[in-house]
Order: sequence, then C-alpha cells, then structure tokens
Amino acid sequence: MTLAEIEKLDQSDPLAPKREAFMIPEGLVYLDGNSLGVLPRSVPGHMENVVRQQWGHDLIRSWNLHGWVDLPLRVGARIARLIGAEPEEVVVADSTSVNLFKVLLAALRLRPERRVVVSDVDNFPTDLYIAQGVSALLGGLELRFVKKDELEAALDLQTAVLMLTEVDYRTGYRYDMARLTQQAHAMGALVIWDLAHSAGAFPVHLNRHGVDFAVGCGYKYLNGGPGAPAFLFVARRHQPHTFPFLSGWMGHQAPFAFVPAYEPAEDIRRLTVGTPAVLSMSALEAALEVFDGVDLEAVRAKSLKLTDLFIELMTPLATRYGFELVTPRAHAQRGSQVSYRHPEGYAVMQALISQGVIGDFRAPDIVRFGFTPLYLRFADVWEAVKRLERVMQQELWKEARFQQRAKVT
Ligand SMILES: *Cc1c(COP(=O)(O)O)cnc(C)c1O
Repeated sequence: MTLAEIEKLDQSDPLAPKREAFMIPEGLVYLDGNSLGVLPRSVPGHMENVVRQQWGHDLIRSWNLHGWVDLPLRVGARIARLIGAEPEEVVVADSTSVNLFKVLLAALRLRPERRVVVSDVDNFPTDLYIAQGVSALLGGLELRFVKKDELEAALDLQTAVLMLTEVDYRTGYRYDMARLTQQAHAMGALVIWDLAHSAGAFPVHLNRHGVDFAVGCGYKYLNGGPGAPAFLFVARRHQPHTFPFLSGWMGHQAPFAFVPAYEPAEDIRRLTVGTPAVLSMSALEAALEVFDGVDLEAVRAKSLKLTDLFIELMTPLATRYGFELVTPRAHAQRGSQVSYRHPEGYAVMQALISQGVIGDFRAPDIVRFGFTPLYLRFADVWEAVKRLERVMQQELWKEARFQQRAKVT
C-alpha cells in the first residue's frame, strides 16, 4: 500500500476524531498501549479537582459527598459494557494478580471434589505464579500447565478450573473464548478468563459465552494510568456462592456497623477487601470517558486493519532482516498486537525507541507492537515501519547503549 492510500484510510476512519481525546507527545509513534495506555485529556483536569477540591478541601466528607465509597462499583459498571457483562457483575479493586488469587480460590471452592487447574504454560507468568501460591495454600493442587494445542485434551472430569488469558501477551494469539468455555463446562469445570489484553481492545462477550469469572487490567487498553486498579467479573449466578477468602471490611455486608463477625456483602462488593485507592480509581474513571459512545465493533474493525497493514508493510523487512512473524494471520486468532521474533530483538527495540517509535520486548526474543485503534492513525503504522527500516539499514541497534538491559523491558 502507498502512503497516499494509507492517508485515505485515515480520512475515512470513523474513529479518527478520538485521537483528540488523548495527549500524545509530538512526533511519537506509540505502539505500547497494550502495556501502558496513553494519557486521556480528561484525566489531568479531573485529577486536579479530585486532589485540590475533594481531598484538599472537602477532605473526609468526600467519601459521601463525592461518592468515593462507590468508586469500585461505579467504575466497574463502566467497564462492564466493554466486556459483555451486567453493571452489577464487575468491580474495580486491587491488581489483576490479587484479583486472580481471589477468584481462583473462590472457583476452587465451588468444585470441592476436584483438584486440577488447567492453564497454558505460556500464560503470563503472574497468572501461573498465583496458581502456584494457591496450590501451596491449599496443600497441593494438580497444576496442568500445557501447550496451547494440548489444552483441550488436558480437560477432564477432575478439572476444577480452566484459567486462561484470552490474548497471549507474547504472540498476540487470541483464543476462541466461546469454544474453550464450552469445553470446560462440558467437563463440569469453571472458567476464569484474564482480559488483560482484551478489555478496551475489542468487544468481549462474557455473558454470551457463559463465562464464570474474569479479571483484567486498568492500565493497558483502558488507559487508567500507571498502576491503575484492576477489575474482576463474577457471573451473577455465582455471586452468592463466591466465597471471599480475602475477607476485609470493605467486602462486609455493613462495613460501618463495625461488628466483629465477618458477613460478606450480598453483591460483588464482597470481592473487595480494603479502602479503595481513590486517586488511581478516579484517574481510571475519567479515562474511561473516552469509550463513551464508542462502538467496540468499530474498534475491532480498525484494529484488524491496523495490524494487517503493519504485517503487510513489514513483510519485505522481515525477509531482509530476519524478523519472524509469530502473530497469527487469521483474524479470529489475533488480538490487537503484532509480534516478531528476532535474535537481536532487545537492541533493535531500544534503537527503535530512540527513533521515536515505542514498542516493547519480551524475553527471550520477541519484539512486540500494540495497536490501539482509539489513538493510532494508519499513517503512524507507515511511519513506524519506515523508522524500523532505518534502524536495520543503518544497523543502529549495534550501538553499545542499546545492548544494556534496563530493569523494565
Ligand atoms: C499485564 C498482565 C497482568 C498484570 O498483572 P498486575 O497484577 O497488574 O501486575 C496480569 N496478567 C496478564 C495476562 C497480563 O498481561
């Protein structure tokens, strides 16, 4: 495709005006919104108000006056629409890792006679680590961590929980949520989906597929800011039976009755634990305004066009410089990122960042490019490939400073 054709795509893009809702540094092509979303324009002003007026002036009255106490449910309800859930089925709290701990323990309690947890051995490590911690706590589960093509065979009548991330963080491979959920249910198992790379990137249909539990991040495609709180989903039918093992006061039926005996809230609030992180939850709340009126089918359509274009423009470079595409070409199997294997991946990405194109690197050898349809232009894809071509042609990645591994990659 030529640059003129690509500029036409931008001119006819129904999501193009959304870019104005974000503060994108001049000249930067940001392909890392799958790791940390760009700052929405609505956030700084809102935070100014939350800090100066709500915290600074109204102080503790703000819990009622500005509804701080309802933030977990209020922000959860906003996320619900994006993931195909009812507003009462989603709550914002803690981190994705902690939420996974909560729902995994609760799910296992719903299958007391079973001790097997099935997952993908290439799942994001924190998901696997949490399962290992839960196993240690419960005195030994069978953790069946297998390759993707072995998953279906790993499900059996001993399986309590199938726990997967919908989009593989390395390759961008997207699972068939409907099919795997149905297969787990056929074995009498429950499912937990991690939506870290799904929520805000494309439409998710938790209830349509009968999903039991889900968790996800606030700081990736939801643009909630560094360390933003995470969300969790519990299907309504499970809520009364979902045991909150992290039984803190905010999940109590009546937190301000201050009684000694723990009684869980009737609703999903039972999966909250302590005082909500008001500042970061407020940032997430304001950030979610960018999704108002946005049709996620349009987001998905643009995401596929962006990733298709990137793969197309990268094809000659891939051949010339040894990039191996690891993201599926089939749309149904692709999330909103494109990844390549390259033996010098780390240095190549560092050099590319120095040229104003930010992607990231995942060990051992993957360079990863996230595509966020709300603020990326098709012309940005062209620009990113041009700058990568310069990095490879001029061998910029060979500079010593690009070989030094930083703490965060
Ligand atoms: C990013 C990510 C996480 C992050 O978990 P935190 O608790 O927020 O650090 C968890 N799971 C998956 C699949 C992720 O991609």
